[in-house]
Amino acid sequence: MKIKRNILLNPGPSTTTDTVKMAQVVPDICPREQEFAGMMKGLREDLLKIVHADPGKYTSVLFCGSGTINIDVCLNSLLPEGKKVLIVNNGAYSTRAVEICQYYGLPHIDLRFPVDRLPDLSLVEKSLEENPDIALVHTTHNETGTGILNPIREIGALTHRYGAVFMVDTTSTLAMRPINMEDENIDFCMASAQKGLTAMTGLSFVIGNRAMLEASKNYPKRSYYCNLYLQYEFFEKTGEMHFTPPVQTIYAAIQALKEYFAEGEEEKWKRHTRVFRAIHKGLEELGFRNIIRREWQSGLVVSVIYPDDVNWNFERIHDYCYDRGFTIYPGKISTTNTFRLCAMGAIDEQDMKDFFTILKEALCACGVRIPVTYKESIG
Ligand SMILES: *Cc1c(COP(=O)(O)O)cnc(C)c1O
Repeated sequence: MKIKRNILLNPGPSTTTDTVKMAQVVPDICPREQEFAGMMKGLREDLLKIVHADPGKYTSVLFCGSGTINIDVCLNSLLPEGKKVLIVNNGAYSTRAVEICQYYGLPHIDLRFPVDRLPDLSLVEKSLEENPDIALVHTTHNETGTGILNPIREIGALTHRYGAVFMVDTTSTLAMRPINMEDENIDFCMASAQKGLTAMTGLSFVIGNRAMLEASKNYPKRSYYCNLYLQYEFFEKTGEMHFTPPVQTIYAAIQALKEYFAEGEEEKWKRHTRVFRAIHKGLEELGFRNIIRREWQSGLVVSVIYPDDVNWNFERIHDYCYDRGFTIYPGKISTTNTFRLCAMGAIDEQDMKDFFTILKEALCACGVRIPVTYKESIG
């Protein structure tokens, strides 16, 4: 079967290989069969390998849902009675964590920083010092809205110095940027199958410290479907998900993991880096500017400022590219108009060269001046 190949430059889901797509076409199976439980056991073990987590100390728990389910699950399940969550917030995804706290009525501190700046660690420490009831600290590794990479190792070290648990939203780095749980001081991290793993949507997972997870057994139960301990306990007892898993998506994820290990952590990161550099090169040639300083970028997302040109029209540019198999995506910053190009997915340098040919055509078709122009000079 020939499947049209689209290049997704949006921040997930990402372009998949045909072998991953086809892995979903399998004989029907009841997921309560031993055969299926065995597959999930292997999948859970492989996920630990991605972040170099010792299976004696860490475990992984699968959920059926998009990546946000992980943030919801961890926040509502890992906070002891009478304690507080600290959210180190410099972007849209950490703001999502704040909203989850609001929905559950979890006591929390929203420690905000500008979206184009790294968090000030002295203020993080001050917050921990002044609030001994903080039991859980949350932040986002790569703020996908802007592409800024947060200093998780340092935030994790502070978190541990003050005796709290550190959870990190690694949805847009895991299986792309190499991560070592222990070195980065991470107690819980998370992702969904559709981003770094380049598998299908609908499967998400949390990787976490087993002892801390077991300690959460007696924490307040704030959700039934989204409780981390309950799902973990069910996996440990039966090898199964508590409720119906996304069966075909799991087959695809297993194939994607095979391809991940065949390519290798280092080679895969090199490929993402090639794509990222090709994005920058293409943008520079056209005169586009970034919102985030280059040295703070995650190497996976480029946030581009709209040029000041009366003929610039993001929707028209998007549609032109989309019709030719390339998907670009709007930004997520309220104060500046941006669009994003992401180096995720099963794509390589040549795809970016092809993309920039199309983007240039799109700019010409819209009458946008090349190189693009900005009112303010860089100062
Ligand atoms: C994609 C993403 C999520 C999850 O988004 P969903 O739409 O629920 O899949 C969460 N955090 C980050 C940092 C992400 O990039």
